[in-house]
Amino acid sequence: LSFSPGTTIFREGEPGDQAYIIERGKVEVSALKQGQRLVLAVLEEGDVLGEMALLDNERRTATATALEAAEVLVIPREELGQRLADADPLLKLLLRTILDRFRETHWARLAGDPMQPTQHRPGRITYSQDRQRAIDAVRLHQELERAVQDGQLRLDYQPIVRLGDRQIVALEGLIRWRHPERGEIAPGAFIPFAEETGYIVELGLWALDRAREAVLALERELPGRHIVVSVNISGAQLTDTERLERLLDRINTFAGDRSRLKLELTESLLMSDPVLAASSLARIKRTGVTLAIDDFGTGYSSLGYLQRFPIDTLKIDRTFVHGMLADPASLKIVRAIVSLAADLELDTIAEGVETEAHAARLVELRCRHAQGWLFARPQPLEEIVASLR
Ligand code: C2E
Ligand code: CA
Ligand code: CA
Repeated sequence: LSFSPGTTIFREGEPGDQAYIIERGKVEVSALKQGQRLVLAVLEEGDVLGEMALLDNERRTATATALEAAEVLVIPREELGQRLADADPLLKLLLRTILDRFRETHWARLAGDPMQPTQHRPGRITYSQDRQRAIDAVRLHQELERAVQDGQLRLDYQPIVRLGDRQIVALEGLIRWRHPERGEIAPGAFIPFAEETGYIVELGLWALDRAREAVLALERELPGRHIVVSVNISGAQLTDTERLERLLDRINTFAGDRSRLKLELTESLLMSDPVLAASSLARIKRTGVTLAIDDFGTGYSSLGYLQRFPIDTLKIDRTFVHGMLADPASLKIVRAIVSLAADLELDTIAEGVETEAHAARLVELRCRHAQGWLFARPQPLEEIVASLR
């Protein structure tokens, strides 16, 4: 937008739907102080104005006037709305606190005494929901750190069987958290949060360490049986070079048989940056571990990329397995995944197999492996070892 000298860009008391970045010219920001116009600032090229109302939805507390011919770039509210809604709760709370403080100071200054709280101040907006979210987030993070230190976390293992003879061929490590006060907390309640904060990197390495121990324990306790141990890896562990190096280091320093370690990754991770994913996966694959795509069919895999990733296994998401018996579309999807996998020489594991009917249909479809409550629930490694001895 262009403004000629002397024109108003926005006025005190108006609702504010946009912020501006000055590209050319000078803009004066002023407010009424006891009937007199007080100049608060003169802004120039590169400065931002009108941002406060955009952030906290309050009315304009100042007037902006072009001092000389000005050109501004408009930042509309929609540009910010979703980003703010998605922002980290702690960042959001701190941002709003700073805004509140700034407005407080602004009103005090106009009231004539910058040191005193002011009567001018319009109704204080409380952000109780955001504040609660921020508190929960900070607390959960600290509790998770403590959980790792105090041994509240453990990795349970769910058997993966060969459908032909129902022999256990692999175990999937699934994280479990027994909180001293709150009891068992499901991974769904803290994994997504740990992904947001980046703490998933520590959790993922912790799980990998447990999986390494499990491979060694199985080699020792059940010599002669080849059981693979798989562990879930989050996208955040691959997208950053330093994190990838830490992961590779953990694998490379493993003294046991690396071909018995398998990493499970989701499609969304691979598709968000396929080029980076392909190079990261190639490096991981060179260490000797194997790779599976988890929850296959729920993401948006491009089949073209699938061939470029050095993948060994597709895990068919349980929604298709559950839907398969009643819903023809799910059945077609399972059939298509199994046949695609066969063509690409990949193995398939059907997840969430709960009934004999599921298992029978999967055998018909020539799916080779399965995992689910029909065969076993996730359980401590010692129990599995004891039952196999
Ligand atoms: P996932 O990787 O898809 O894990 C399989 C989930 O299905 C597990 O839930 C398992 O308990 C559940 N399940 C197994 N058999 C059946 C069945 O027959 N029917 C049904 N309805 N469910 C079954 P869980 O343990 O609650 O884990 C949930 C998710 O948490 C996992 O989904 C995975 O995405 C994540 N997760 C768990 N451990 C880790 C970890 O160490 N690292 C990372 N990054 N994610 C993890
Ligand atoms: Ca998994
Ligand atoms: Ca899965």
